[in-house]
Amino acid sequence: MERESLEMDVVFVGAGPASLSGALHLTRLIEQHNAKGEGKKLDEVQIAVIEKGSSVGAHNLSGAVMDPKGLAELIPDFLAKGAPLESEVKEDHFLYLTKSRAIRSPINPPPLNNHGYYIVSLNRLTAWLGEQCEAAGVNIFPEFPGAEMLYGENDRVVGVRTGDKGIDKEGKPKANFEPGVDLLAKVTVVGEGVRGSLTKKLVQRLGLDAGREPQVYSLGVKELWELPDDRYPAGRVTHTLGFPSDQWTYGGGWIYGMQNRVLNIGYVTGLDYRDPLIDPHAEFQKYKSHPFIAKLLSGGKMIRYGAKAIAAGGWHAMPRMYGDGFLIIGDSAGFLNAARLKGIHSAIKSGMLAAGTIFEALVAGDYSAKTLENFERRVHESWVAPELRRYRNFHAGFRHGRWLGMANAGLQYITGGRAWGILDRDRQEAGHEAMQKLSAYGYHGDNISQRYQDLRFDGQLTFNKVTDVYHAAVAHDEDQPAHLHVLDTNICSTRCAEEYGNPCQRFCPAAVYEMTDNGKGARQLQINFSNCVHCKTCDIMDPYQIINWVTPEGGGGPDYKGM
Ligand SMILES: Cc1cc2nc3c(=O)[nH]c(=O)nc-3n(C[C@H](O)[C@H](O)[C@H](O)COP(=O)(O)OP(=O)(O)OC[C@H]3O[C@@H](n4cnc5c(N)ncnc54)[C@H](O)[C@@H]3O)c2cc1C
Repeated sequence: MERESLEMDVVFVGAGPASLSGALHLTRLIEQHNAKGEGKKLDEVQIAVIEKGSSVGAHNLSGAVMDPKGLAELIPDFLAKGAPLESEVKEDHFLYLTKSRAIRSPINPPPLNNHGYYIVSLNRLTAWLGEQCEAAGVNIFPEFPGAEMLYGENDRVVGVRTGDKGIDKEGKPKANFEPGVDLLAKVTVVGEGVRGSLTKKLVQRLGLDAGREPQVYSLGVKELWELPDDRYPAGRVTHTLGFPSDQWTYGGGWIYGMQNRVLNIGYVTGLDYRDPLIDPHAEFQKYKSHPFIAKLLSGGKMIRYGAKAIAAGGWHAMPRMYGDGFLIIGDSAGFLNAARLKGIHSAIKSGMLAAGTIFEALVAGDYSAKTLENFERRVHESWVAPELRRYRNFHAGFRHGRWLGMANAGLQYITGGRAWGILDRDRQEAGHEAMQKLSAYGYHGDNISQRYQDLRFDGQLTFNKVTDVYHAAVAHDEDQPAHLHVLDTNICSTRCAEEYGNPCQRFCPAAVYEMTDNGKGARQLQINFSNCVHCKTCDIMDPYQIINWVTPEGGGGPDYKGM
C-alpha cells in the first residue's frame, strides 16, 4: 500500500497539556533564539501535534483542581489571556465517610491543600492551549491517532504512522479508505497520557522500564450534575475517604463546585484491588447513595459522564524517558503526583522541559539519546523531581490497608518521602497481580453478585453503565475492526470464568465487555467496542494481560465537553 510521508521536525503524539505545552514552549524558544541572532538561525522548524479525538480536548478528562505553577511558567499572563478557569479554590474540606455519616476532618491533609489553585475543566483548558499553539504556528491534527512508532536503524525512532481510515469490520477497505500517513520527525515526543498504546510498546521494545517498578493505576469515574440552587458554590473543594471502599481497596471521592451550579463529582478506585468482584463504576454509584452525597444531589440532574485511568505509581515507576529520536512526557511517563491527585501542572512542566531539550538538539543538530538524555537531567534539576520524590512511597503504602497507608502517607510527608521505606522500601507489584481469585474470597456461582446486591440503578441518583455511557457522548463508526484486541478469547469462557468470574464485565466502566450465550449453551465474549470511553482500564487490569487497547479510527471515542 502506498502511504504519504510528511517530513516534520518535531511530532508530539497526543494533544494533552503535556504535548501542547511542549509544542508552544518550543516555538517560543526558537523565536527567542532567532531574534537574538546568535548562532545558526533555526528556519521553518515544523512542529506537529496529532490527536486521536475529534477535536483538541474531546478526550481530555480530569478532576480537576489545578496547581497553576506549570501554567504560570508557560503563560505568565494566563489570567489576562483568558485561560478558561472555573473558579479559584475558595474552600477546602476533607470528610471521612462511614456507611451513614460524614465526619468532617478539622484539618485538611497537607497534600490536599488547594489554596491558590483553580478548579478547571481539562477539556476546556486543553482546547484553549490548542488555540495558543495554533496561533504560534504549531500544526495540530485532530482525528489523527498515532497507530505505530516508526523505527530506523538500531531502533532509532524516526516518526509515527497515523491510523488508516475507512476499514470495515472485516478489515477490508471501504469506499472512503484513506491510508494513514507516515509523519517523519527528528524527535517524536510521546504525550499520549495514561497507559499510552504506543508508549506501552515502546517501553517493552526498548526495555525502558528495566530496574523500575511496574506502573500502578487507579480509575476515576466522574459525572457532572446541574444543581437546582446554590447549595454547592463554585470554588468549594471536598475530598472524601472511606465509604464505599473497603479497607483493602485504595479509593476516595471528590466534589468540586464549578460555574453555573454545575457540580463535578467523582470517585477513584485503585486498579490494584484484591476482590475480583469490584466494579469501579458501581463503587461510584454506591458513593452517590451515601446520605450526605444523595442529599447534595437531590433535585439535580446528571448531565455528563466519563472515566479515565490515572497513573499512580510515581517516582519509582517512571520509565527511562528518552532514547534515539524520542522523549516521553506527561502521564505517559508517570509525572502525576498521586498523593495530591494532580498531574496537570507536572504534565505542563514535563512538556516545557522536553521543549528545552529538543531546542538544544535542534541547535546541535543531534537527535540521539546522547543529547536527548538531557531531558532527564532537566527533570531532576526542576521542581518536579523533589515534588515526586517526596511522595515516592505514597501509593505503595496502601498495600497494607487503608490505615497503614494513611500512616505511611503522614510519615513520608514529615520525612521527605522515606516513611518506612527508610528500612525497606515497599515494592509495588503490577495492579492486575493483586487481584485474587474468586475462591480466595469464597465466591461461587450463587454469591457472585453479592458485593453490590443492595445497589439499584434508579435513573435519578444512580445510573447503569449504558445510561452513563450515553452521557459521555461516545461515537465510534461500528463498521470498523474492534480496537480492543483480546489475544485469546478461549480463556474468557474457561479459565477466566472459573478463576475470576470474567472481571472485564466489572472493571470496564462503559459496558464494553459482556459474556453472552453463544446459542449452543456455552458462554462467549462479546466486545461492544463502540461504548469505549478510552479509559484504558481493560488493558491495565485484565488478570491475564491479554487485552490490548489500540487506537480506533481517528475521531472515534468520547466527547468530554466541560469535563
Ligand atoms: C479522574 C481524574 C482526575 C484527575 N484529577 C486531577 C486534578 O484534580 N488535578 C490535576 O492536576 N490532575 C488531575 N488528574 C491528572 C491529569 O488529568 C493528568 O495528569 C494530565 O491530564 C496529564 O496530561 P497529559 O498531557 O500527559 O495526558 P492527557 O491529558 O491524558 O492527554 C493525552 C492526549 O493524548 C491523546 N492520545 C492518546 N493516545 C494517542 C495516540 N496514540 N495518538 C493520538 N493521540 C493520542 C489523548 O486522546 C489525549 O488527548 C486527574 C486525572 C484523572 C483521570
